[in-house]
Amino acid sequence: MDATTNGKANGSAPAVNGRAYPIEDHTFDIVVVGAGGAGLRAVVGCAQAGLKTACITKVFPTRSHTVAAQGGIAASLGNMGPDDWRWHMYDTVKGSDWLGDQDAIEYLVRNAPEAVYELEHWGLPFSRNDEGKIYQRPFGGMTTDYGKGIALRTCAAADRTGHAMLHTLYSQSLRYSAEFFIEYFAIDLIMDEGRCVGVIALKLDDGTVHRFRSNMTILATGGYGRAYFSATSAHTCTGDGNAMVLRAGLPLQDMEFVQFHPTGIYGAGCLITEGARGEGGYLVNSEGERFMERYAPSAKDLASRDVVSRSMTVEIREGRGVGKNKDHIYLHLDHLAPEILHERLPGISESARIFAGVDLTKEPIPVLPTVHYNMGGIATNFHGEVLTKKNGDPDTVVPGLMAIGEAACVSVHGANRLGSNSLIDLVVFGRAAALRCAETIEKNGKHAELPKDSADLALSRLDKFRNASGGTPTAELRLSMQKVMQSNCAVFRTGATLDEGHKLIHAVYAGMPDIHVTDRSMTWNSDLVETLELDNLIAQAVVTMDSAQNRKESRGSHAREDFPERDDKNWMKHTLSWLDMQTGKVTIDYRPVHTYTMTNDISYIEPKARVY
Ligand SMILES: Cc1cc2nc3c(=O)[nH]c(=O)nc-3n(C[C@H](O)[C@H](O)[C@H](O)COP(=O)(O)OP(=O)(O)OC[C@H]3O[C@@H](n4cnc5c(N)ncnc54)[C@H](O)[C@@H]3O)c2cc1C
Repeated sequence: MDATTNGKANGSAPAVNGRAYPIEDHTFDIVVVGAGGAGLRAVVGCAQAGLKTACITKVFPTRSHTVAAQGGIAASLGNMGPDDWRWHMYDTVKGSDWLGDQDAIEYLVRNAPEAVYELEHWGLPFSRNDEGKIYQRPFGGMTTDYGKGIALRTCAAADRTGHAMLHTLYSQSLRYSAEFFIEYFAIDLIMDEGRCVGVIALKLDDGTVHRFRSNMTILATGGYGRAYFSATSAHTCTGDGNAMVLRAGLPLQDMEFVQFHPTGIYGAGCLITEGARGEGGYLVNSEGERFMERYAPSAKDLASRDVVSRSMTVEIREGRGVGKNKDHIYLHLDHLAPEILHERLPGISESARIFAGVDLTKEPIPVLPTVHYNMGGIATNFHGEVLTKKNGDPDTVVPGLMAIGEAACVSVHGANRLGSNSLIDLVVFGRAAALRCAETIEKNGKHAELPKDSADLALSRLDKFRNASGGTPTAELRLSMQKVMQSNCAVFRTGATLDEGHKLIHAVYAGMPDIHVTDRSMTWNSDLVETLELDNLIAQAVVTMDSAQNRKESRGSHAREDFPERDDKNWMKHTLSWLDMQTGKVTIDYRPVHTYTMTNDISYIEPKARVY
């Protein structure tokens, strides 16, 4: 516990609607919100630099969604064949469908090998090749020699890489003097004239309110997959940081780009890693055909995720789906040696048995494209500093605020992320943010006076939902939102489905004032927390739908059947979307894509048609 608190409310006790909420105050140089891979890497770096660092997390650190990552982490180590960071850069730019910022992508791929060795030295138990080096497997869209061959680039700890990585990072973070605030739910940022000066959080087990003052707040709150009905992400992936940014009057970037992973288990939605195809698995339709050969003649089942998800959807639509309702696809691994499955893919062998009732040494797994990753998020530069567009300057830095990990849009993944490029993004930009803090934030520095209304936004929302007595239970409204997103903002989109989706999702948004929360207590009130999370999700659902409706081209994961081509002339630009909380109105503007690299070691990669 922070020395300034002694566990007692030591701040003010503002009253909202006659109910008092005593506040405990804490003061830190750096407050990191989130203890997934990105948050923990930043915590380690900031604490190492001697900055007084707090980490706030709504779940125990090793329960963050990073723990579920399976397939691996990309870096051009070249342990299993030739590799080069320039090839990794080319693949990432092409994977992003030329929406990624090339300076940031260069930063990512150049720092990737060192970041993986750092994890190795910190004790991450990677699988090994025959020479005892880190084992690397093929992954979708990862090639050698600018698209000519298939790269073995994805470093893996069997199919439990995220688990190994998160535990490694958590144990490292305990070496330093960072303070953890575990099972604290961050409600809102404290903003003072455009500067972020901290965050307000609710301690879940006793309902006390905590005000964290900081000279830098780093949002590492993960993605918002749970805005959809079927997602591979944990129920905690509600994009809380993204929504805090919207409420602070700042924009989110490229929210229309939502990745569907080709192989979620049919019905359950749990992930079967792309590593399964990396190890030789393949997809078939009801005619027993390996259909990916038609859609991506050279990469086949290892084309990038958007391409494979669309191909599967077309097969199902054209009547070649498998199963009683012909509504899914089979993934075969039964031709692989049981030893390989046991050694390289033990986790998914278990998932297939539990969630699909399938013995994958003998039968195929029923799979379906399932929401998996959000390319969009909080706009940042490659130092992790949050950006907004102000007075025409699209790269205006928001003082006191950073974002990293899936919450951020740097943008290295552009319109489509390559598999295994997220885990590397977490550690490279988690480190980058910490380095920037070490450079710019004074140790035990002074803090400005907090604005008088510092807790108003957070407490008024908390109190409103705690006492919400409308007619719609949270679960009901959440289901409506998830169904609209799933049916109207999916793998394929058209003007008509998006216009309808716009109407439907705004109707759900308009339903929020009628929400009903049953539990009025302040102790472990999961009803209240789920409602705060729904309030966060619905804000992101609205900007996602409206950004998709606005973008009249097809690029990466955003596939418009009415605008099937990529249109670089009009649309090679990032979408920025602001949300008016009162009215639900979305305002859209743009930022240019960075068409320059970080150094002269590689030149700008010109757009071309994206075929695999
Ligand atoms: C099933 C699955 C498998 C994947 N496999 C791979 C893979 O093999 N390779 C790859 O590169 N990528 C993979 N990904 C993607 C990758 O794992 C994620 O993008 C990444 O782990 C996100 O990490 P993060 O640190 O940004 O956030 P998370 O790990 O999601 O952590 C978010 C943190 O924020 C905290 N938090 C959130 N809201 C609040 C709040 N309001 N108050 C306090 N704390 C809060 C949470 O407690 C948590 O600690 C996979 C994703 C899934 C879902």
